[in-house]
Amino acid sequence: MNIKIVLLPLVLATFAISCTKPVEEVNVYSGRHYASDEALFAQFTEETGIKVNLIKADSDQLLGRLEIEGEKSPADLFITPDVSRLSRASSLGLLARLPEYDWLMNVPLMYRDKNGFWTGLTMRARVVVYAPERIDSSLISSYEDLAGDKLKGRLIMRSIQSQYNQSLLASIIVHDGEAAAGNWVSDLVSNFAREPQGNDRDQMKAIASGIADVSVVNTYYLGQMLHSANEEERRVAASLSLLFPNQHDRGTHVNVSGAGVLRNAPNSKNALRLLEFLLSKSSQEYLSNSNFEYPVNPDAQMAELLRQWGVFRADTIDLNQLNARLDQALMIARTGGWK
Ligand code: FE
Repeated sequence: MNIKIVLLPLVLATFAISCTKPVEEVNVYSGRHYASDEALFAQFTEETGIKVNLIKADSDQLLGRLEIEGEKSPADLFITPDVSRLSRASSLGLLARLPEYDWLMNVPLMYRDKNGFWTGLTMRARVVVYAPERIDSSLISSYEDLAGDKLKGRLIMRSIQSQYNQSLLASIIVHDGEAAAGNWVSDLVSNFAREPQGNDRDQMKAIASGIADVSVVNTYYLGQMLHSANEEERRVAASLSLLFPNQHDRGTHVNVSGAGVLRNAPNSKNALRLLEFLLSKSSQEYLSNSNFEYPVNPDAQMAELLRQWGVFRADTIDLNQLNARLDQALMIARTGGWK
């Protein structure tokens, strides 16, 4: 018998096996759209050989997609910049309970789900920014003060369509009650210098150009603008002052961007490895230094700029409560005319 004929099927079989050897991968659905995240994913792949397939979209669109895909969803890890969307994913039954690994338990309980379905990746504070030459800082010490008479025509706010403002308003409902939150919204709206428009950066640009004197933004946007490659953005940011509201009572509203592993994740082991990597001291410091977010790993050092801004008291509300008040927040905003 011809030896070539005997060996050929063997060679073909070996070739077939090596071709079908599964590639280790992890499928990430992310509502975070930062270059820093993609740099970290690339580093993860380099270190572990696990390929990261990234799908980026708005968090609510991703949640809708996950619901439609159901058990057939290829998604392993859901990442979002808003904690209400993490609780929503969990209440929709989309997430798996996370194992109690040391690296997860290391995240302070106020920045992860008490029921164990999601964890924060970074923390950010929603702070007041103002033009120091036009605003006497003694005028504002709380979010409630933004609704005061003295700020008539001097305040601008981003739309309530922003997840960040929805979570802020939800926190005000939890703390002050529904009626007080309703009054706050109508007084706030009556102070607006213009209809809500643009993102957090646009509010800062509008203050610098004199359209208004005060607004509310996430800390990292100010940090990014202070370190922007664009000279005009640096000038805008440098002209503003920041204050942490509610330091004398409940603390400043903070939000976490975070992640959960999908209940039907085909690659859940890899998703957990990626989560561990993102929570490592070095990834956390990278995110803080490049994005100006606060680490949730207590072993990681925050960026120099954040240290300069100083220690502040953060609202310690159970972050899952924000999602529970989200629909109410939208209704109150609509009634009060906050578009
Ligand atoms: Fe953001």
